[in-house]
Amino acid sequence: MPMTINKIAVVAPVFNEEAVLPEFYRRLSAVADSLPEAEFEFLLVNDGSTDRSAALLDGLAAQDRRVKVLHLAANFGHQIALSAGVDHADADLIVTMDADLQDSPELIPAIKLKIEEGYDIIQMQRASRDGESRFKLLTARAFYKFMTYLGIKGLVENVGDFRAFTRQVQQVACRFRERHKFLRGIYATLGFRQHVMPYRRDRRYAGSTKFSLSKMIAFALDGILTFSSAPLKFLHVIAITLWIISLAYLIKALLDHYVFDVTVPGWTSLVVLLVFFTGLVLYSLAIVGLYIGKIFEQGQRRPLYWIREGRNVEPVDDGCGQPWAKTPETQNRK
Ligand code: UDP
Ligand code: MG
Repeated sequence: MPMTINKIAVVAPVFNEEAVLPEFYRRLSAVADSLPEAEFEFLLVNDGSTDRSAALLDGLAAQDRRVKVLHLAANFGHQIALSAGVDHADADLIVTMDADLQDSPELIPAIKLKIEEGYDIIQMQRASRDGESRFKLLTARAFYKFMTYLGIKGLVENVGDFRAFTRQVQQVACRFRERHKFLRGIYATLGFRQHVMPYRRDRRYAGSTKFSLSKMIAFALDGILTFSSAPLKFLHVIAITLWIISLAYLIKALLDHYVFDVTVPGWTSLVVLLVFFTGLVLYSLAIVGLYIGKIFEQGQRRPLYWIREGRNVEPVDDGCGQPWAKTPETQNRK
């Protein structure tokens, strides 16, 4: 059944984006003005910025009621900031995008049309990526191939966190409370009626990327460890293979000694075997350790994020309906 969209929420995480915020707001509100039939809210999540972003956001919220700002109490990272925004969105259609204008707000009308056709999730696929390094493109491709090899279903190559979905999808997605979020994997596995829409990903409007190499590696690891236990199963396969080989070798050694009366020359092979197997054992332990680390962090059941202040929006702590623990000071502080 085609749905009517009366309200659209645009969610964008903001971390030290003072150089792009005014332009992002200008382009976003132009798009919103071009769709007068829909009511808009711009849910901008300040992910612990240390530049003038917070002040700029407060300024926008003061002059435009559509601008809703969540100031997270610290830097929780892109995926959590995005989730905090989605938790707070109150709309028929929720669009998540970066604030650096790599994802064009001008695509929102086309996205809205697709949802009205009856899709539940629109995954925006980067058909071209301007201004990204060869290294980033290559590693992104290798990572996608690896994830597909591990059997994560529904993952689409070159789909990042520019996507749109209905309120129904939001209600389901906000129940995924893992600390180490890999949102593109979560939305890919949700099912529903999904549509992949190619788009041209622009250069960042201003400023520089907030993703260091180490953040990128941590993110890739989160993706693998929260979606697949294949590395653990792989250890099992290695262990069995080696066990069979060593059994064959044991038989050969015994035969050599007792039947053919040959003395096996030993030193080099012993050292090689020793180094190889201690390495392997340590490596296996490390993989197991990575999973245990995730279990440990999840087991602590800490909130995913907590909020310092909200503007034009009533903050709920850690989404999914937990009321924000208000104290008289935070209530009165302006
Ligand atoms: N971002 C965030 N918290 C972080 C890092 C980034 O909220 O710890 C935001 C950032 O402000 C931007 C979006 O996430 O709106 C994407 O970040 P960026 O453009 O630096 O990543 P890239 O496009 O280079 O992958
Ligand atoms: Mg960017």
